Amino acid sequence: MAYIEPAPIKDKENPFESMMERFNIAAEKLGLDDETYGVLKSPSKQVIVSLPITMDDGRKEVFEGYRVIHSNILGPSKGGVRFDPHVNLDEVKALAAWMTWKCAVVDIPYGGAKGGVKCEPWTMSEGELERLTRAYTSALNEVLGPDIDIPAPDMGTGPREMAWMMDEYSKSRGRTINDVVTGKPLVLGGSLGRVEATGRGVMVSAMVALEKMGIKPTQATCAVQGFGNVGSHAAMLLEERGLRILGISDHTGAYWNERGLDIKNAIHYRQANGTLEGFTGGEKITNEELITSKVDVLVPAAKEDVITYHNADQIQAKLIVEGANGPTGARADKFLNEKGIVVAPDILANAGGVTVSYFEWVQNRLGYKWTRERVNRRSDRIMKEAFERVYRTAQEYDVSLRIASYIVAIKKVSETYRYRGGF
Ligand code: GLU
Repeated sequence: MAYIEPAPIKDKENPFESMMERFNIAAEKLGLDDETYGVLKSPSKQVIVSLPITMDDGRKEVFEGYRVIHSNILGPSKGGVRFDPHVNLDEVKALAAWMTWKCAVVDIPYGGAKGGVKCEPWTMSEGELERLTRAYTSALNEVLGPDIDIPAPDMGTGPREMAWMMDEYSKSRGRTINDVVTGKPLVLGGSLGRVEATGRGVMVSAMVALEKMGIKPTQATCAVQGFGNVGSHAAMLLEERGLRILGISDHTGAYWNERGLDIKNAIHYRQANGTLEGFTGGEKITNEELITSKVDVLVPAAKEDVITYHNADQIQAKLIVEGANGPTGARADKFLNEKGIVVAPDILANAGGVTVSYFEWVQNRLGYKWTRERVNRRSDRIMKEAFERVYRTAQEYDVSLRIASYIVAIKKVSETYRYRGGF
């Protein structure tokens, strides 16, 4: 069946504009000159490809794929590939820019990019997904490369897709090139600790923020929206640190237990059933109720625009740790700031994933494998240092952690640009 574009969600913010609103505030605080402003706001490359794929029933279906390289000032561009029916150029542009800022905030030598294919991966067979992933890789053959642009998993993709991408790219060059993608299966040169890395970085950010706020983790309650790779690992690691996870959710709804959910049990349930539908460890509530529930820590870990100006004034959490990219629309920031809610923003809090992607790339280039302990120790240190850098900047400029993160990132990229004078 051909994919039918769903009706646009009313009042949805444009993710690229949301990104630019924060960028503009930070650029003004920094007194960024017009030339640098112009360079940093414009994506350096935007590619759209049509991918005709033979489906299992013999029909040809044409899928649209995107890759946007926002910047390569700090190094080769880095960022995931998203398989989702809502993928569009504006979203990919915003996500690519966020990758530039994210890599700069955690101080790793990458620029930012993002890719996506408009498709419903859960309706496709493994064979169809493989053909689609290979066609996407081959259409972008000249765009990708270990020193040029390095994809990774994002929503709807994982180690399996990265293996196909690595193989397809390697075939085109006649030799194995494993550092062209990260987030690969371990046997193909993936890094220990990569799968849980984003969730782990969310946990580390939450711990540092709670400490600054004087809240003991063992006395804190938490809700996690989204139970994919990021949300489930974040929930598990936060539970391990003593937080009581009262609510979790996925696209089937939200599940709430006032005494605390058993996260390992929920993960096993999801692994066995594919979704949380029918999970009996908690009572069923709506996703909207979860977002506005009375907890200390809220972790949005699904996708953009779940905290909007419609519900921001009802949020009861004291701390929001953004596991997803862009979960808070720009117009919601004002309400959260007014209510004194601390937000550990996406480009800081979910940077653990790309940090361990960087470690994977380094290990591939060294032809060496680090232990899980080394990976975790180094990524925890990077995440803590980044949080402290952003925190100090927020105090210095008297701004939110979000604007401070943009200031840290823009400062780094603009200084590099001034030295290089090109790219
Ligand atoms: N897709 C992830 C993100 O949004 C990881 C990107 C990467 O590892 O390159 O941060």
